[in-house]
Order: sequence, then structure tokens, then C-alpha cells
Amino acid sequence: MAAGTMTLSDIQRLENEHQPPLYAKREIALVRGEGPYLFDSDGRRYLDAMSNYGVAILGHADPEYAAAMADQLRTLATGHQSFYSDVRAELLGELAAIAPAGLTRSFLSNSGAEAIEAALKFARVATGRPNLVAAKRGYHGRTLGALAVTADQKYRAPFEPLAPATVHVSFNDADALDAAVGDDTAAILLEPIQGEGGIWPASTEYLQAARRIADERGALLIADEIQTGFRTGEPWAITPSGVTPDILVTAKALANGFPIGLTMCTEAISEAIPSGGHGTTFGANPLACRAAVVTLRALRDRDLYAQSTRIGQAIMDRLTALDSPKIRQVRGRGMMIGVELKERVTPTLRGLQERGVLVLPAGATTFRLLPPLVWESEQIDEFMEAATQVLT
Ligand SMILES: *Cc1c(COP(=O)(O)O)cnc(C)c1O
Repeated sequence: MAAGTMTLSDIQRLENEHQPPLYAKREIALVRGEGPYLFDSDGRRYLDAMSNYGVAILGHADPEYAAAMADQLRTLATGHQSFYSDVRAELLGELAAIAPAGLTRSFLSNSGAEAIEAALKFARVATGRPNLVAAKRGYHGRTLGALAVTADQKYRAPFEPLAPATVHVSFNDADALDAAVGDDTAAILLEPIQGEGGIWPASTEYLQAARRIADERGALLIADEIQTGFRTGEPWAITPSGVTPDILVTAKALANGFPIGLTMCTEAISEAIPSGGHGTTFGANPLACRAAVVTLRALRDRDLYAQSTRIGQAIMDRLTALDSPKIRQVRGRGMMIGVELKERVTPTLRGLQERGVLVLPAGATTFRLLPPLVWESEQIDEFMEAATQVLT
């Protein structure tokens, strides 16, 4: 049976019979996308306010992106890093132009969790220390190393014991961080805005304290920008704080949907990594690199950073003005917005979905918008119409 001819029940039966039951699935099969919209197997259209957890930053089926990927597939798709590559070199040039000061070295892999694994290994080998400090509510991925720094017991408990040893401290509490970082701490790991945990921005003072505490104790500071990267009005959400991390990790939006992970580090850390000490077969392949090059250029050339600041602020202003009895707080920056409710979030997710709008949860009582940056005022109006019906 060809894709596109399957009914929802065909699709559901095959997925439910042949996958481990890891996901609570919605009763929708997504089969097509176009700009800010997604379409299901019955042809119904949805406004995409989630972009697959923040991945499809240019929207869906972007013609320029699709043409570049097709061209790269016809040219060269795969290539190991033991050879040089023109497209990889191009991407490294693009990344150098947006890297925080001093983060001169980029290790490319295939996912967020893999990028975190690299960061943890680099921090260990550069400091000679075993342990980590991360934040409660923090999310860093679900491979064994990344899981060790992820806080939520729901993800951790079935797989313990986990290494490396991690102390989880309250987020935005500099004193707790100060008390937790010691002589055996390789790195402090923080999201500049906690994503899965509920869209909680770190305060500037907190990030500055983290930098100072890391420096005082000889630990490294790792910024996990896997979710925040490229959607807060500039490439990095940590930039406005004036803090430069020693390692910066990103993934989700970097290649607009093609799997990729990026771990940037300083010259000093890079020098400590032994040759052959890390690697990946798929990482930095020409197709992934082309995807990232096209994405980064589109974000810049189409002025999408400025647009996302404008649109994101307008969404937050209108949600705040809604004066909804259900809303406790609206938080976020750019196109990373959390709406904390005074009740459980599931009925609101369902209500929005029934009205053709797809958003994500972020914890039990918060829903989250991670829209493609290509939203215009038309999409804000569409979203607000559904949100007004569901929340007031
Ligand atoms: C999604 C996410 C990860 C994990 O990325 P995967 O690609 O799902 O492995 C890690 N950290 C943060 C902040 C994330 O949002």
C-alpha cells in the first residue's frame, strides 16, 4: 500500500501492533505540511504551533529548503569525517559566524541527546572530574548519559543507576548552585529557558552567578540550547545575559527537520579531547550539513529572527490581554511561549486540537507554543480565535 492511500485506521493498526508503546498518541496521522500548516490523513488542516517540538523552524515543505535537499541528494548524501567535505566546511563557516565568543570548535552529531553526550564526555576529559550539577525540571535527553542529567523521575527511575553522578538543584537559585558545585564537578548544565519543564526563563543574575561559580571552582558551564536555539529572536537564548558558556549544545531547529546535533566548545576543551576519543558514522554528513546551511541562511536572509521577536511578543501580549480565568501566567521569549493554567492542561490541548490548532504540553499544567518562525499576523489571529474559545 502506497503512503498517502492509507486510512487512519490502517495507519493506527500498523503503528500500534509494531511499535513498543512508548508514546501516548493523538488520534491523528500527519501526512503533509505546508508552511505554518499540517494536514492529516483525512485532509483536515491544522495550524502548527509546535513545529514537531521546535524542529520545523522554517515551516513545512519550504520550497528553497526542499530544492536544496533534493540537489544535495543528487550530488552526495553521505560522507565520513575522515574525509573533507565542501558542504561541511561551508556549515562550519556559518557556525563560526554565530558562535558565542571563544567557542571556536564544533562537533556535529545526529540528535540532541547525542550532542549532550559529547558535551558530557568533553567536560569530563577537559576537567578530569566525574560529576555534574544540573537543574530540577531540566531536560537534556534520554540516552543513558543525557538521562543522568535530566531531572524528571518519570524518565530516570526505571533505568537507574545512572552515571555520571548528578546533583539537581532548584532552577534560578544561585545559592543552591553555589552549595552544590565542588572540586569533583566537571560542569554545570543549564537550559537558558527550561523547555520541557514548563518554559521557565533563567534570570540574567542566575546565569551570571553560574558563570562566576563555575570559574571559581574550576568547573565548566554548559548551555543546553537544544530547544531555545534560533527561536528567541537571535541564535542563542543565553546571549542577552552577557554570559558565554564553555560548551553550547543545540539540535532541534538547526537543520529544520533533518536530524542533527551540535556541540560547540572552546579551544582549550577541544585540545583536551584525544584523537579518536569521540565520533559518529552519520554525523556531519553532507546532507545534514546542507540542511543546516540552508536553514541558517534562510533565518538570516528572510529576517526571521526579527519577525519571531515581533510575532512572539504579539502572541504573549494578546494571551495576557485575554484575561482568562484559566490562565495563571504567560512566559517566554520570541517563539518559545508557555501558558501556565490553573488546572490540568489536557482538556485545553484537546480543545485547541478540535479547533484545528496543535500545541504541546510542558508539564502537567502548562501548554507550550513552539511555532515555525514563519507565522504572520494571520496565524496569530487564527490561534487567538481558538485560544479565546477554549480559555474564556
Ligand atoms: C529535546 C531536548 C533534548 C534532547 O534532544 P533529542 O534530539 O530528543 O535527543 C535535550 N535538551 C533539551 C533542552 C531538549 O529540548
